[in-house]
Amino acid sequence: GATIGILGGGQLGRMLSVAASRLGFRTCIFEPGGDCPASHVAQSHVRAPYEDEEALRRFAASVDVVTYEFENVPTSALDLIESLVPIRPNRKALAVSQDRLTEKAFLSGLGLAVAPYAAVDDEVDLVEAIDEIGTPAILKTRRFGYDGKGQARIAAPQEAQAALADMAGASAILEGFVDFSHEVSVIAARGLGGDVACFDPGENVHKSGILHKTTVPARLTPAQRTDAVLLAAKILNALDYVGVMGVELFVTTTGLVVNEIAPRVHNSGHWTQNGCVIDQFEQHVRAVAGWPLGDGKRHSNVEMLNLIGEDVARIPDFSRDGSVAIHLYGKAEAKPGRKMGHVNRLLGPAA
Ligand code: ATP
Ligand code: MG
Ligand code: MG
Repeated sequence: GATIGILGGGQLGRMLSVAASRLGFRTCIFEPGGDCPASHVAQSHVRAPYEDEEALRRFAASVDVVTYEFENVPTSALDLIESLVPIRPNRKALAVSQDRLTEKAFLSGLGLAVAPYAAVDDEVDLVEAIDEIGTPAILKTRRFGYDGKGQARIAAPQEAQAALADMAGASAILEGFVDFSHEVSVIAARGLGGDVACFDPGENVHKSGILHKTTVPARLTPAQRTDAVLLAAKILNALDYVGVMGVELFVTTTGLVVNEIAPRVHNSGHWTQNGCVIDQFEQHVRAVAGWPLGDGKRHSNVEMLNLIGEDVARIPDFSRDGSVAIHLYGKAEAKPGRKMGHVNRLLGPAA
């Protein structure tokens, strides 16, 4: 059987490994850390830093295709791997989503609505950007941010310089604050032949910058639902994308605004594990392996709740409720802000 290589050994890599083995594939993860969530389920683990060329070669030689569970894989590692084995989704998708400035330019180039934005490399840029965009605004590092890290809200212009100082010299962008009523995301997949399948959009609630809850169905009109799915398909086609992508959207009175894209399976798509016959992890494995896609149809209404840090102590309670599916990541220590697992509560058959 074929082997799928996965860069990164976190919970997304773990759930990809489970889905892959259900389809008869073996998985090999590349992950510098030892006792990581995916290492408990993958058949093999190359444990080395991304700078270790010999280890990267050994990894690439042992797999048929490489995918990834996080977007910040170093470019040098990707260059080496790509010379030996296909990477799906492709490099362009990674390059676009690794940098918020490139990402915004790409999305607006497709004619999609994004927040007003400006590049900020120094104090002079910042003054100009605040002048142009106004407040409230959000200053974000261009690279490496996730779960709201590397972001500062700026309520008034006089707060701007302190926010920039906190970024310690990192390149940033200033984004105008989007006046949204709620947030939704589309989990979309594109196969090797260019076919696209989207899951029903989910409605997302964040707490302290971290996804807290996703509910399907989202509050969207039929027209908004169509818009959401069409814009996701447009993004995937433009990137000649193969695999699953998460597209985060703001719902506003003037239409859908794209917040960001993630070139991988996405936390807001975890509900699919219990709401669909084929979930986002299997869908991603199907796509990168060149299989036909599943249709993504939803059979149930679902609420997905993330278990962050000490939330994991609620598991005994959840375990007594027969309508709740429990998904734990095998992490030993419940540190604050750490994603320990999630639960999917089934709310009844889809209407
Ligand atoms: P993720 O973990 O989803 O990758 P992230 O760290 O990349 O998160 P964003 O998705 O950019 O961060 O922002 C986190 C949250 O902050 C958004 O889901 C939204 O609630 C809020 N937010 C971000 N940008 C804006 C904006 N321009 N206007 C209003 N709210 C925003
Ligand atoms: Mg992000
Ligand atoms: Mg986000």
